[in-house]
Amino acid sequence: MTTTNDLTQHSPELRAAARHIGRRRFLTLTGAAAALAFSVQLPAPVAASAAARGARRIAENPFTLGVASGDPLPDSVVLWTRLAPVPFQADGGMTAEPVAVRWEVAHDEAFTQVAASGETVAHPEYHHSVHVDVPGLEAGRVYHYRFRTGTWISETGRTRTAPAASATTPLTFAAVSCQAYADGYYTAYRHLAQDDVDVVLHLGDYLYEYAVNSVGGYRNYTDRTLPAVFNRETVTLEDYRLRYALFKSDPDLRAAHAAHPFVVTWDDHETENNYAGDTPENSVPPAEFLLRRASAYRAYWENQPLRLPQRPTGPDMRLYRRLHWGRMAQLDVLDTRQYRSNQAYGDGAQVPGPEIDDPARTITGATQERWLLDGWRSSTALWNVVPQQVTFSQRRFDPTEPSRVSMDAWDGYRASRRRVLDGAKAAGVENLMVLTGDVHVGYAFDIKDDFDDATSATLGTEIVATSIASGRDGTDRPANWDTYMKANPHLRFYNGRRGYARVALGERLARADFRTVPYVTTPGAPVTTAASFVTQVGGQGLTPA
Ligand code: FE
Ligand code: CA
Repeated sequence: MTTTNDLTQHSPELRAAARHIGRRRFLTLTGAAAALAFSVQLPAPVAASAAARGARRIAENPFTLGVASGDPLPDSVVLWTRLAPVPFQADGGMTAEPVAVRWEVAHDEAFTQVAASGETVAHPEYHHSVHVDVPGLEAGRVYHYRFRTGTWISETGRTRTAPAASATTPLTFAAVSCQAYADGYYTAYRHLAQDDVDVVLHLGDYLYEYAVNSVGGYRNYTDRTLPAVFNRETVTLEDYRLRYALFKSDPDLRAAHAAHPFVVTWDDHETENNYAGDTPENSVPPAEFLLRRASAYRAYWENQPLRLPQRPTGPDMRLYRRLHWGRMAQLDVLDTRQYRSNQAYGDGAQVPGPEIDDPARTITGATQERWLLDGWRSSTALWNVVPQQVTFSQRRFDPTEPSRVSMDAWDGYRASRRRVLDGAKAAGVENLMVLTGDVHVGYAFDIKDDFDDATSATLGTEIVATSIASGRDGTDRPANWDTYMKANPHLRFYNGRRGYARVALGERLARADFRTVPYVTTPGAPVTTAASFVTQVGGQGLTPA
């Protein structure tokens, strides 16, 4: 067994990681798991014969976790799968050898008109995950894709490319977040798989680190027993990898991935509740937490349709990125977790003090903030969409002054929000739409220049997608509904059911539909639209549709 000490001598990347988290502390975190979480080089090239041999050895269907696609560009989309014949086993039922995987992209579901195909290698170092950055596709088209290895063939996924840079094609997307497996069924995904959207934006809490018991919590299984390995909080790389296998064992999640390309960003629970940068939730030393973060980030990349630039380096991963939908929309996907200052006054609901206005504190980090504002300045898009994690608009919990606000959301980083809104104004961003997860309810907000002054300018809109499952069945009108609506005049809608938000962006207006299901603790709920809003191009905020 190699010690971490040996590895730091041999790997410049590991030396860099050790510097990052403090060398002395790092050297105490010995072991193969630590080394693996920090290893950053792609495995060495594999002989085709060896990879083909690996493929022939797979004796059971390895495509148990489904297929996915993501981050559509005008000429490319990234395809994902992972080989795991025995998904609830740590090695997925695979031996530690490379495996050849063929992929095909076609114009039709029967694959009679193949548009692109090739072969890649699923490496054991990346848990036999497959990420194919398909080149040379046509803009604005639907494609079908599948994988093969040995005698096995995957299900067929459906995806699409973004329109050409000059196109004014409308964009319809769904925004989703927060899928605590133990809180209920992913019925909303079943409906979303059948909905007519171009792309799904996942706004975080794809995974939860909390223990899942043998009956799947509130799913209350009577027909199966989940392994004990899930009944503890995720900490190690193996824990996180296995937890993705559990969440992806849900057929409704797999159906949504197979039906639409996803653009994903994370929030806290893919790593740990309410962490902030290198500060964990509890009093664990930052160095130890960064090792956990490295494991969580690595498992995230392995299990999502993300490209190589998103592949983590130890505890660092460049997840914020920019996508375009012709001239209709620019999507600035944010990461408000990795670079944020620690929460002021604790993680919860607090009457804030002066720290929230301290310009030295940040929720985006300085580099990402500059990138966002520069991106807005050069934007030629009609709609400037910001898929991100936590509530952007002011959300007062009390009707009285002073009111508590969330220290974990943008309310706890008011100087950051001021800089971003001033940057949007300076850039002349007219049609700003912020998309948010995290809070397990649906909200529609007008984003005010000054949230304490109802007569101040409306600078954009914020649509808060409710959760897929987190929070269990929920209710249309939570107990604090009256208080919140009174305390926040810019809050136009508040609903406490599970579901997703569907948004259609067009040349004249955007329409947002809040799609909800009445229950998730038993399967099979129908979906309805709880409310719809429109916002006009160049207009001032949301109006009921
Ligand atoms: Fe959540
Ligand atoms: Ca969260």
